[in-house]
Amino acid sequence: MTQSHRIGVLGGTFDPVHYGHLRPALELSEALELDVMTLIPNHRPVHRGQPQATTEQRLAMLELAVEGTALQVDDREARRDEPSFSVDTLQAMHNEHPDSALVFCMGEDAFNGFESWHRWERILELANIVVMERPETQLSDWALQLIEQRSGVIQRRRVTQLSISATDIRRRVFHGLSIRYLVPEPVKEYITHNNLYRSAPSVAGQPKN
Ligand code: ATP
Repeated sequence: MTQSHRIGVLGGTFDPVHYGHLRPALELSEALELDVMTLIPNHRPVHRGQPQATTEQRLAMLELAVEGTALQVDDREARRDEPSFSVDTLQAMHNEHPDSALVFCMGEDAFNGFESWHRWERILELANIVVMERPETQLSDWALQLIEQRSGVIQRRRVTQLSISATDIRRRVFHGLSIRYLVPEPVKEYITHNNLYRSAPSVAGQPKN
């Protein structure tokens, strides 16, 4: 990577990946003129219930979702057999690309929990943060204050508002409802062929950090 590179990072559980991840990721990539936008599935989320799909299955669905697009998938957290801390991932990426700017993207719901993330202040030193607006989510007072205080490092961005969540997708599959147009077709087919999300739906806890 050369000095001018800007690397976007969108971490998550992606259980499963859906258009509420993909469309905003693409829009931010264009709007912020990122050289690459990388989706990083976690292995074991820290602050939420464990995923229903296995790490391999979540990774496989992501690979299907980004095929033929400008988005990339990074499996570094998935490969680690230990809790995924964003600060460690960003530190590793910074070490690999010391001259590149890291742009860490997250939805408003994730940013609301940022205060409890492991070494969140270090994250602000390692990356710029972009908070994507998300339907049916209000930023907490703490989050709003932090954005104001660190306006050079944290910014909010409007993205196309898609009221889609993985929780809702899992619930629909469990109840035998269609998820067409909520996820890419190959992801929908993968879910069907692998009988995913047929057992009692889990409601996600807090976002991972
Ligand atoms: P769950 O319902 O299981 O909590 P989720 O749909 O929120 O899952 P995650 O994998 O937890 O998906 O999300 C990864 C990142 O993408 C988080 O930063 C989250 O805020 C963001 N995100 C997810 N869905 C949307 C959406 N519809 N619009 C904007 N951001 C989103």
